[in-house]
Parts: sequence; structure tokens; C-alpha cells
Amino acid sequence: FEGMTVVELAKKTGVSIRYLQEIIINVGEKADSEFVPLSIDTAELVAMEVGVNVKRLHSDEGAVLQPRPAVVTVMGHVDHGKTSLLDVLRKTSVAAKEAGGITQHLGAFVVEMTSGASITFLDTPGHAAFSAMRARGAAVTDIVVLVVAADDGVMPQTLEAMSHAQSAKVPIVVAINKCDKPSADPERIRIQLGSEGLHLEDLGGDVQVVEVSAKTKHGLDKLEEALLLQAELMDLKARIDGPSQAYVVEARLDRGRGPLATAIVKSGTLLCGQYIVVGSEWGRIRSIRDMLGRETTSGRPAMPVEIEGLKGLPMAGDDVVVVASEERARMLSSGRKKKLEKDRLLKASEGRIEIDDTSD
Ligand code: GDP
Ligand code: MG
Repeated sequence: FEGMTVVELAKKTGVSIRYLQEIIINVGEKADSEFVPLSIDTAELVAMEVGVNVKRLHSDEGAVLQPRPAVVTVMGHVDHGKTSLLDVLRKTSVAAKEAGGITQHLGAFVVEMTSGASITFLDTPGHAAFSAMRARGAAVTDIVVLVVAADDGVMPQTLEAMSHAQSAKVPIVVAINKCDKPSADPERIRIQLGSEGLHLEDLGGDVQVVEVSAKTKHGLDKLEEALLLQAELMDLKARIDGPSQAYVVEARLDRGRGPLATAIVKSGTLLCGQYIVVGSEWGRIRSIRDMLGRETTSGRPAMPVEIEGLKGLPMAGDDVVVVASEERARMLSSGRKKKLEKDRLLKASEGRIEIDDTSD
């Protein structure tokens, strides 16, 4: 709805111009002319009031785009080694080595290679987190690492992860793990995956397969190379300048510092002091920290940052948007809260229940 005028909005929603103007005044904006384009925040508030779902689309038209690191999620069947793999990957990070191996748990970490290239890994493995984010419209992940244990083979959650990635159109890189085991049979895994419809590279497809061991660290460099190659193919770029858009990957309450949200910046640069709305919460950014817990003044695309200064606790998958003022932030937050409550009541009255998938 950004840039839409009231006249256009009326046409789009089937709501009368007069009623729309009333709403605009109610949300504290001026409704001077029905021909003046609305700001994105006003448009969102109005849309929520008339019960239309909106998604903020940030136009990067004309903006300077720069290459950015890939954001990677690790998925696969339970016990196939997702957590182990993430642990050893985290330890290969140059930054982690510099900091004496101390990285704080942020829900995401960056592996910097000696070549200077880097990859951002989401630290919450499993399809539950991935689905939760997707359900909230958060397209954070660029690549999925599908972990399959070489001694166990393709299992139900392997297939589930595969179909999640495929329906989200996120490319897969297969990591056949536990190749150190005497009973490991990577060839068998290849055949299984192939018969499940994955077009493996060895067979002329475009899905890379790497044999690894989280235990001996064998093949980790190959996995990183494969991810860099996949990222290169995707030509991942982001706008660096201008207002930032980010997604929450994890949030927690710290006794001293209050609500803390780890977010991955998607575009633009997040700055200290900015007013933000995160899901239905709002705040002013008091501090931004990197994955080593160092204070920094800004967050750039694909960078996981910990944001301090929110009034409430957001949820994984919530979007972070920068707004112009405290008033805007409060308004948008309360508008979104009302909308959530309305949706909740609606659902309750329909007698539907939703099962929280926290199987991982
Ligand atoms: P997750 O459920 O997918 O997160 O799997 P975990 O990382 O918790 O690993 C499950 C078990 O497999 C643990 O006991 C690990 O020590 C073991 N494991 C993980 N990776 C390897 C590996 O490469 N080789 C061997 N031999 N064991 C592994
Ligand atoms: Mg695990």
C-alpha cells in the first residue's frame, strides 16, 4: 500500500473514502487530501483497521545493491548431527578464534573464512524453527544444509526438511555426516536421496553433496566451499543504505538489559537510536551487539545483531521495521497488537486449534 492515495486505497479495499479518512484521523494522521500518497506506516495501520492483510514490500529500485553473505539453516533428522555440525562450524570462525573461542549464544553466528568471505548460520536447527519463520512470512534463509547420517540414511524428518526447503524454493546442499563411522555408507544415502527426487550433482543435477564428519571435522572446509559456491550462483545482494529491514531469529529476556532480540538484517543498515517496531512490540535501539558481544553502532545485511531497547519480547520470525518517531512506533505497535487480538478472537470463535510443532 505504500505510496497509495486514499482514492486508490478505497478502490483496492472496497471501503468508502470517507470511512478511510475517518480511520486515518483516528490513527493520528492528517487526511488532508485523498490524492496525497500515504506513508507506509499509515497505509499499514489503515489496512489493519479495515481487516486487510498487508506485507511490507520494500522497493530496492534504483538503490545500490552490494553482495551479501548467505544465511544458512541446518536441517535434518534427529540425531543425525545438526547440533554437532553447527558447533564445529562455529569454532572454525576466524572471529571466534580471535576472541579466544568465546561466542555468545545469539541464535545465529557468522563463519568468516580466511579468504574473507563469510557465511551466516542460523543456530536453531530443525524444521520447527524454519516453519515458524516461514509461517510468519520471514524469508530469512537462503540455503538449507540437509544433514543425513551416513550410517542411518534418509528418515522421515529428512524428507520433511527436504519438502520444507523445496516448497520455500530454498536450494539444498546435502551434508552426509558421520562419515567417520565404519558403518557409514554415503553411496547408499546418495541413492536414497536421488530416489526421493533430489537432483544430486554427481548425477548431473544441481544439488551439491559433501561428505563430512562433525566428529573428526573432516570435510567441513568442503561444506563451506559448497555453500560459498551456492551463494555465488544465487548472486545474493542487498541494499546497504537507507532504512533497514530485519527479521528476529531469537528473543530472550535479560534481567539487567530487558528484552533482547537477535535479528538478521535483510537490507539497509540498522542504527543505534532508531525507533523500531518488531512484530507487535516497539522500542528505541539502545545498543546493538555483534555475535561476539561487542557493541557496534550498526547492523548490515546478513549480519546477526542483538538489539537492546525493546519494550516487550518479540517472537522468532517477527519483522523489524524502522519508523520515524516514537509516536509512530507506539501507534504501529498498538495497531498490530489489536490486530493480533482480533485474529485470536476470530480463531477462538471458529473453534479451531493449532498444534505447536516443537518436535525438534
Ligand atoms: P541432532 O539431533 O541432529 O542435533 O544431532 P546431534 O548433533 O545431537 O548428534 C547426535 C549424536 O550423534 C551425538 O551423540 C553426536 O555426538 C553424534 N555425532 C554427531 N556427528 C557425528 C559424527 O560426525 N560422527 C560420529 N561418529 N558421531 C556424530
Ligand atoms: Mg540438536
